[in-house]
Amino acid sequence: MTIEEVKQMIRNVPDFPVPGIQFKDITTGLKNTECLRWLRDQLVSRYKGKGITQVIGLESRGFIIAPALAMEIGAGFVPVRKPGKLPAETVEVSYEKEYGIDTLQMHKDALTENDIVLLHDDLLATGGTMEATIKMVKMMGVKKIYVNFLFELDFLKGREALDKDVEVDSLIHF
Ligand code: AMP
Repeated sequence: MTIEEVKQMIRNVPDFPVPGIQFKDITTGLKNTECLRWLRDQLVSRYKGKGITQVIGLESRGFIIAPALAMEIGAGFVPVRKPGKLPAETVEVSYEKEYGIDTLQMHKDALTENDIVLLHDDLLATGGTMEATIKMVKMMGVKKIYVNFLFELDFLKGREALDKDVEVDSLIHF
């Protein structure tokens, strides 16, 4: 499987969820087992041997591949969720979106200062969601942070919004 073949499998949906957005629908790739395996294997080869102890997935499309990757590299899985979903004590971060404020939460005891973490989401657009998550994880005082996306929309320059101390990588660029 090549990068071009994977790109061809991702459906572009114009004007979803609002007019003007070209939505990258990854479900058309995920339903193909070779594509699914390619995505997982690419991540494994990038992140195996880096001492990562927890893979942190962002709700909700960041939950799809992250646990499979975590098992392959000998790490655990930690979810970052929207407010009101996690049952125990949480830490949270709020950030501005185009329309209003969004909040993300993690369990307070999800990480320790000895953790080396990989933050993972399906797609980097403006970078607001991931930058807020990086801030929240930094507050918890981990040893090192890696950031990964399956897909990156280069023209939105979301990478520039991300903390310069973290290593950012995307499998496929649009
Ligand atoms: P952002 O904070 O702008 O980087 O947005 C990132 C989040 O919104 C990710 O969780 C993506 O799944 C989702 N997202 C934003 N724009 C798109 C798009 N054009 N296609 C698919 N998902 C998107």
